[in-house]
Amino acid sequence: MTWLRKAKEGLKAQQRRRELPDGLWTKCEDCGEILYHKELERNLWTCSKCSYHFRISARSYIKILTDDDTFVERFSEVVSTDPLKFRDAKRYSDRLKKAREETGLSEAVVCGEGWIDGHPCVLAIMDFAFLGGSLASAAGERIARSILLAIETRRPLLILSSSGGARMFEGILSLMQMAKANALLARLSDAGVPYISIMTHPTTGGVTASFASVGDVILAEPKALIGFAGPRVIKQTINQELPEGFQRSEFLLQKGMIDRIVHRLELKKTIAWLLRFFAAGAALPQKPRRRAGESLERFRAASLPIGTALPPAPPAPGETPAAAPGARTIDLPEPSPNGAPARASKPSAPAPPADTQAPAPAAKPDAPAAKPDAPAAKTPGKSPARSTAREVRVEE
Ligand SMILES: [Zn+2]
Repeated sequence: MTWLRKAKEGLKAQQRRRELPDGLWTKCEDCGEILYHKELERNLWTCSKCSYHFRISARSYIKILTDDDTFVERFSEVVSTDPLKFRDAKRYSDRLKKAREETGLSEAVVCGEGWIDGHPCVLAIMDFAFLGGSLASAAGERIARSILLAIETRRPLLILSSSGGARMFEGILSLMQMAKANALLARLSDAGVPYISIMTHPTTGGVTASFASVGDVILAEPKALIGFAGPRVIKQTINQELPEGFQRSEFLLQKGMIDRIVHRLELKKTIAWLLRFFAAGAALPQKPRRRAGESLERFRAASLPIGTALPPAPPAPGETPAAAPGARTIDLPEPSPNGAPARASKPSAPAPPADTQAPAPAAKPDAPAAKPDAPAAKTPGKSPARSTAREVRVEE
């Protein structure tokens, strides 16, 4: 039986080499190429032969993306508790403890501020090693606070997703994070601050169904699995054969779900280019457009260049009575040459809370009087060019 033992030993040796990350060599999980560790590290953990992207930690992504020593972690004090006292094969509290020990992280997402190629950003990087990168109350809260920080500082937001979906050990509390994050991202969008979403392998479940899919620009790593439900569930539901490469980033690029597939070696360069693009776009003279239902404060904040903090609140918004049903006109301050409203530097009352949601009332009796330069009444259909104050027509 010597031959049998030999075969077994041979197999064992091969297995061990694959599992040892600290060894000299690593086998590519896709093409089987044996890769020298040092070279693999130089290639940012991608295969030099087939460009398979090995899964890496949140800390590694931070190191790859941010400029040296610029990252400052925030919101690490927010951690998951075990509100449901959940227990299946193991206690959830024990799973949390083990994940914390194994990864050295306190939650499945690392958030903070950092600089990318000289541009300040707010980053939220998910780590799959922490309970499958699952979205739970603490991870969701960290992401929510990062979005608020991006609104407050007007710095572009970057969320790198790597997740199996919502963390079921926290039940509905996990699912609530999807709506919470997206409600805040809508506010970020209203504030005119860009959001870049990066999807890595895998980005699935509740993360795909919420914040990962709503970026102003959505990037993905090659061959990343991106989807909501798994292919087997979809196949059973629709009772059809799924196309080749279904739910991979290449397929999704073809279908318009993502904007670009970026090799990890090009990731920082691409993001830096996008940040320059957004900064240049924001600096261009442009006529801001106000969205239906948007408050005047938020609209004014959205007209500021990216990267500048919110100014103190302007005086009470002066609004003229509704011009016509379905449309109304409002007065806007003339922008200064750099694009910021002239009143930005005027000392005034403290800024309103970021959650000012209610649109300014259409008719305020004292409003026209507060602004002497505002025409007492505006006729509907008047050309905006004829007025000294800039006007924006809002379709309701
Ligand atoms: Zn390979």
